[in-house]
Amino acid sequence: MGLAPLWRLRRPPVGEAAEIVVEQPAAAPPAASTSPPSASSLSAGGREAAIQAMDWAALKQAVPACTACGLHSGRTQAVFGVGDERADWLLVGEAPGAEEDRLGEPFVGQAGRLLDAMLAALALKRGENVYIANVLKCRPPGNRNPEPGEVTQCTPYLLRQIALIEPRLIVAMGRFAAQTLLASDATIASLRGRVHRYAGVPLIVTYHPAYLLRNLPDKSKAWSDLVFARRTLAGLAARR
Ligand code: URA
Repeated sequence: MGLAPLWRLRRPPVGEAAEIVVEQPAAAPPAASTSPPSASSLSAGGREAAIQAMDWAALKQAVPACTACGLHSGRTQAVFGVGDERADWLLVGEAPGAEEDRLGEPFVGQAGRLLDAMLAALALKRGENVYIANVLKCRPPGNRNPEPGEVTQCTPYLLRQIALIEPRLIVAMGRFAAQTLLASDATIASLRGRVHRYAGVPLIVTYHPAYLLRNLPDKSKAWSDLVFARRTLAGLAARR
């Protein structure tokens, strides 16, 4: 596709004021427990609480076993997420596509190749100080948009991943990631260029890689967002 050179050669554009704003932060999940209850037969609140008490091992068992929405019946496998479980960078996408459903890893199709090129342009690599996850863990049929009920059922898994990773920065890629984590219905265009917060963690909004494949001129804006994200992260005090 020749996408990587586009990302390597571009000089970072100037601009993008780093205004700090606080968007409605979601409630911070409770601390981990070593013996999580099964989430499957609980009420909505009980299920969320059970998920928020899971450690990595329990979460990695719960997601592939999940039948909370109809997407489980069409999946080849759930796509849990991939990367460094103590990463500074957390990138959040929308939902697995066909390739991800087949291979069990997020962003391994065409959009994933663009994402990898974007990361490489920042001297980042999936798995090395980067974690990649989606709002939905199962593929919507025909790559349709996630439905609200699916997002509601699946979001607790993402929130638990965030609590366990404790990233220093979240990059929300696309409308579903941004709107879910910020509890907002604002557009990507209106959310870009500012530092938001999810549960106290700085969050930057950018376009989804699949959107960029269809709208090549907006790649420069996405690059600008990532440079802004890198600058934001560099400005944070060292955490560990
Ligand atoms: N698009 C996403 O949002 N996530 C993936 O894993 C692949 C494509």
